[in-house]
Amino acid sequence: LNNFPFKRVLVLGLAKSGLATCHVLLRNGIDVIANDFKADANDPGLIELTTKGVQIIVGAHPLSLLTGVDLVIKSPGIPYHNELVKHALDQSLPVWTEIELLNYLTNQPIVGITGSNGKTTTTMLINDMLKRSQQKPKIAGNIGTVAVEVAEQLNVDETLVLELSSFQLMGVDQFQPKVAVLLNLFEAHLDYHGDFNHYQAAKAKIFAQQTEEDFLVYNADDDRVVELIQSSKAQRLPFSLKHKQPHGIWIDDRSVYFKEQHMIDLDKIRLVGEHNLENALASIGASMLVGANKAGIEQTLTTFTGVEHRLQFVLEKQGRQFYNDSKATNILASSKALSSFKQPTLLIAGGLDRGNDFDELIPFLSNVKGMYLYGETASKLAEAGKKSGIKQIKQAETLEEMVYAAFEASAPGDVILLSPACASWDQFKTFEERGDMFVELVHTL
Ligand code: ADP
Repeated sequence: LNNFPFKRVLVLGLAKSGLATCHVLLRNGIDVIANDFKADANDPGLIELTTKGVQIIVGAHPLSLLTGVDLVIKSPGIPYHNELVKHALDQSLPVWTEIELLNYLTNQPIVGITGSNGKTTTTMLINDMLKRSQQKPKIAGNIGTVAVEVAEQLNVDETLVLELSSFQLMGVDQFQPKVAVLLNLFEAHLDYHGDFNHYQAAKAKIFAQQTEEDFLVYNADDDRVVELIQSSKAQRLPFSLKHKQPHGIWIDDRSVYFKEQHMIDLDKIRLVGEHNLENALASIGASMLVGANKAGIEQTLTTFTGVEHRLQFVLEKQGRQFYNDSKATNILASSKALSSFKQPTLLIAGGLDRGNDFDELIPFLSNVKGMYLYGETASKLAEAGKKSGIKQIKQAETLEEMVYAAFEASAPGDVILLSPACASWDQFKTFEERGDMFVELVHTL
């Protein structure tokens, strides 16, 4: 931690990022106290911290925790209306997320990626493009590895590729990525942010501290994004599927271009769906700014078949293509998936009943020749299917039965798509478990 002015830090929230933050602070000789309402004091991770001199309080948030503290670092999920956070702010204490510590941990270039949707996919794409261009990217942030931990160990030839949620961005102040990527802005997480302006303000923090020497890659087709970035001082690289962008990334009928340079033909890109093409364009822009080249980018886009569970190509069997879109836990996500295919599609869907109106799916069912439905919502989904005139509609208790049934009813040239439009919790622990099961079943067919 270079020029770090704080002596005693309260770390709030002791999940993965909180624990890692404690260790980084300790390694730098900072006094640490840590607090988590829910954590178990007998957790090995907590015991290790205690032995290293961290004072840990679990089970409550006493206000006395703030005594003598000059900085609070909170876990992104802890809301600002938390009593302790409110008190800290009342006392004019800075309240950060660990992302702000990056200013003190590394001078290496940072590519920060945010947006309502597509962050993980874009982060993975940029990482892969850089690797295949003989660069040395390190991936971190919302995606799994903790940012401070990775940043602390960056070498002088490495680039940090950082997925950033709005929760993480809320808690930054001087954070200044060399390249910021703003993918899109939908109304998401309003439960946490209260209103859309608050959410936008959080996203704007990704470029707020950038200067003329930095770059902002943004979605020129998203009006909210365009409006939000008006205050940016960085060099702007728009990407668009609709209009030529001579200073950005764009497409014509056949190909993708970075400024005036031809990058790749559209039909060579393995990822499916317009939304993924947007992610690809953003990734080309960002990676080119930190050392990627055309050959590396082409290798990525001709081989990358999607992040696991996100409209991920699984395999082709007897002329049928299987896709795993288990991450689609709502109607919007499934409608994106369905719009991505022109082929006849057999849709496998169903899951937890949250009282949704599946009629909203009807406009996206035009290529769907059969529906294979399971779980709590099977009959509601079947109603929507009937209304749109689909003849083959089957229902069963389990995903397994429906995978077999869909395969049996399919013909060469069909797409068999798991895109449940529902959360998985009626039958699975997580959407990952659901997707893994699907992939496993497909391999046994
Ligand atoms: P995030 O990390 O932001 O949640 P992911 O890359 O994990 O994003 O994608 C999650 C889901 O969001 C995908 O299954 C897809 O339905 C949708 N999605 C991905 N990229 C985009 C995009 N650029 N625009 C709109 N929706 C997208």
